[in-house]
Amino acid sequence: MTRRDQLAPESAPARGPRRLIFESGSPGSVCFEAPATEHPGPSLDEMLGGRVRSHPAHLPHVSEVDIARHYAHLASMNFGVDTGTYPLGSCTMKYNPRLAEDACRLEGFSGLHPYQPASSVQGALQLMGSLSAALAEVSGLPGVTLQPAAGAHGELTALMLFRAFHVANGDARRRVIIPDSSHGTNPATVSMCGYEAVTVPSDSQGNVDIRALREALDEDVAALMLTNPNTLGLFDPQIVDICAAVHDAGALAYCDGANLNAIMGLARPGDMGFDAMHINLHKTFATPHGGGGPGAGPVCVTPVLAPFLPGPIPALGQDGRWGLTWPEHSIGRVRSFMGNFGVLVRAYAYILAVGGDGLREASEQAVLSANYVRQGLKAAFELPYDRSCMHEFVLSAGRLRRENGVRALDVAKRLLDHGIHPPTIYFPLIVDEAMMIEPTETEPLEALDSLVSAMLEIAAEAKTDPDILHGAPYTTPVRRLDEGRAAKRPDLRWKPDGE
Ligand SMILES: *Cc1c(COP(=O)(O)O)cnc(C)c1O
Repeated sequence: MTRRDQLAPESAPARGPRRLIFESGSPGSVCFEAPATEHPGPSLDEMLGGRVRSHPAHLPHVSEVDIARHYAHLASMNFGVDTGTYPLGSCTMKYNPRLAEDACRLEGFSGLHPYQPASSVQGALQLMGSLSAALAEVSGLPGVTLQPAAGAHGELTALMLFRAFHVANGDARRRVIIPDSSHGTNPATVSMCGYEAVTVPSDSQGNVDIRALREALDEDVAALMLTNPNTLGLFDPQIVDICAAVHDAGALAYCDGANLNAIMGLARPGDMGFDAMHINLHKTFATPHGGGGPGAGPVCVTPVLAPFLPGPIPALGQDGRWGLTWPEHSIGRVRSFMGNFGVLVRAYAYILAVGGDGLREASEQAVLSANYVRQGLKAAFELPYDRSCMHEFVLSAGRLRRENGVRALDVAKRLLDHGIHPPTIYFPLIVDEAMMIEPTETEPLEALDSLVSAMLEIAAEAKTDPDILHGAPYTTPVRRLDEGRAAKRPDLRWKPDGE
């Protein structure tokens, strides 16, 4: 047995590397040959004025079956929600029901052209109006724009609304407060919008340190950006007081709504005192989002902010027809056309399919799943904030590092050998060797148990044979990469010999 075989858990899938498409097939193999035309025109050479290449292009010589196998293999090398447990904290990698896919592929939606007149797209406008109403209900914030293309884009849109609001009141402000547990997009948004970010610490319970917050609030602060539950997966019970303190200083409260999967139908940011929030439709409402594809980050706001929303906004006219209107003091468009419409259709289909009660049950189940896994793991790892969590929780591999020289990264890599996607690691920044686990409501109990037992097995390996963990993963197409270089300078291009 090779070391690789010995180290692969029995359940590990076989996913070896395979030849590149350029190395497949054989000279002369073809997939398709265009029939000779009966209408000969000028040759390519003539059309290009003699500038055609002198050597044939290095195209693969493959047959149709080679191509089919090539792509099927690539698909099987990928990891997704449909292949296994994907507890990537903060990202809400839950199962996306096929029903939502079917809905957005309906010809009446997918075949629309963005320049069609409103009279010919009444159904699409109605869908956007109805989705906006549903999001207003879930968030407790009645003004809605569906334009932003992602969560971070929603954050930017909201801060632009805040600025417009303050400027309209002759009260331009320069700073935005964010807690030290915040998601990286929050400080990035603040500085992209031209504000200065001010960080407030968390207290020993993982909540906002409200005394430090009060000290940081003054007439130059435009807003507080907060997610509740926060990135530790903890619901901040002081939220009403926090929002009141922000308002007392003339600032506005922004909810990063990426964690909505924890509170749907249970608590509404509008009722907590927030003035605006974004919703990651791709996380919470059924759009696949592992590969960086299109998302949607609608923003919901209070009636006071609604006149500043981006336009145009679908609206039902007196005559019972849908049309587009512009809010009175609109900040303008933030996205071409009507945003990522296919994502909006999926979200609406999901909401209709599960209904209001279903949304609440999804959140309840997500919270239950996270607490179940948390209980299973807290003895083997450190739990820096030992309280009931919401939809996710953060463990620390700090003790494993100190006692066994094993880091969160090693644990994450070893999970791959168990066919499980690693949790988010080294985030939030305030936890040493952080591992942020979000199992989601769609993982069956059996899968939760497998996740717990894989993590426990890894914690045991850390004590008995830490080198196994340092060398993991063993069963993936590629082993340990230089993560910095892989992200910044990926080498994805095949080059023919000698080029
Ligand atoms: C995912 C996430 C974001 C950013 O959302 P994108 O759609 O990826 O831009 C912001 N905040 C939190 C807490 C998140 O989890």
